[in-house]
This record gives sequence, structure tokens and C-alpha cells, in this order.
Amino acid sequence: MPPKTRSSTLIERDPLKALTGRVKGSGKHNTRSVSKRKQIVSNVVREVVRETNEGMSPEELEALQKKAIKKAIKDMEKRDRQAKPPKKCGARKIANKDRMDFEPAFRKRFWRKHANSPCAKCGDPIAEDERSIDHVTPWADVRIGLETATVCKDDVHWEVVFVDTMLTAYQDKRNLVPMHKRCNSSKGGTQGNDTITPIKVGVCFGNCSLEKAT
Ligand SMILES: [Zn+2]
Ligand SMILES: [Zn+2]
Repeated sequence: MPPKTRSSTLIERDPLKALTGRVKGSGKHNTRSVSKRKQIVSNVVREVVRETNEGMSPEELEALQKKAIKKAIKDMEKRDRQAKPPKKCGARKIANKDRMDFEPAFRKRFWRKHANSPCAKCGDPIAEDERSIDHVTPWADVRIGLETATVCKDDVHWEVVFVDTMLTAYQDKRNLVPMHKRCNSSKGGTQGNDTITPIKVGVCFGNCSLEKAT
């Protein structure tokens, strides 16, 4: 065993613990990949053992293993840090700060159906230039429950929401009512914090069956 110094890092003191622990800056869901990290450690160690000479002492072997593991950790952290969020997966666009709005054709259909509907808040008729569409369950709440997908891009995994999924939920007729612009308190409310961005969930360890994103 090499002597331990006060300045030794966690990686030097305990490579296994360092590798199976949380990787810096990669988000809150990282614990999911702990078993994968352990798998990597054993792969790295096996690789080192295979490369080792018969005549190597246990100390030399251990030093070699630690070096290999340290490099594996560094590589993982680098991939993780440098990763840019994915934009598309196949033909589907991935949400990244998209502001939602109704599609013009959807608006048209909605008001054709609700041409004579009263305001859901005050009950008065709605003039054409006073029309607005209100989410009964606020969009900020709907947004939280949207279906997510995990995709793989450049060896990093991301939890994402597709823009088409968002739009379908935004334009869910069961959650929409006609309202006066002046009665619609959520007007202008679907901004800022109500957007969605991809979240890093870990690094890829190869042999990955997730959909590839770009
Ligand atoms: Zn009203
Ligand atoms: Zn992957």
C-alpha cells in the first residue's frame, strides 16, 4: 500500500467509492447509474489485470488499477461536463425553453365550436376581439406531469420532453374554456419558469438501447 498523504484525493484514497459515488455537476438523478458505475469499475480492473505482467508485484498491480480507474473517472466527468443538450430525436423536436401558444388552426377550430359560448368566468358573452382561451388546470401544473423520455446523446443521457407532447397537452380540449381576455388571469402567465429544458441523468456506458438524439 502506498502511504496516504493528507492531500490525497478521494479518487486516490478510494477509487471504488469515488467512481460509484455521484459525478459532479451531472444533476440530481445520478444515483440511478450507480450500479452501472460499479460495472465500469470491474471492467476497468479486469482490463488492467489482463494487461499486467506475471511478474508484477501486488503493489504495482494496485497502483496500476488505481491509475486506470482514475482515468476512467476523469473521462466520465469530462464527457458529462462538455455535454450540450439534445435538440432532436429522429424527427421529434426536444423542448428547450419553448414558449407554448395555440396553433392558429387550433384557435380557429376552438372558436368555431365556441362562437356563442359565454365566458367561463363571468358568464357574459364574448366579443370577437375579447376572446381568449383559458386552461382550467393551469399550464404550469399540466407541464409538471408531462410524459418524459430518456435519450442518449454523445455518451450522455438526458431526460427530455418532446415539443409535440407539450403541444398536445397544451391544446387538450378537455382542459380549455372560452374566456374574456380581461377575465383570464393566466394571460401572460405561461412564461419564464413555465418552460422545459433537458435534464442530465447520467453518462452512457455503451450497449445502450435508448433512442439516439442529436
Ligand atoms: Zn368574462
Ligand atoms: Zn446511452
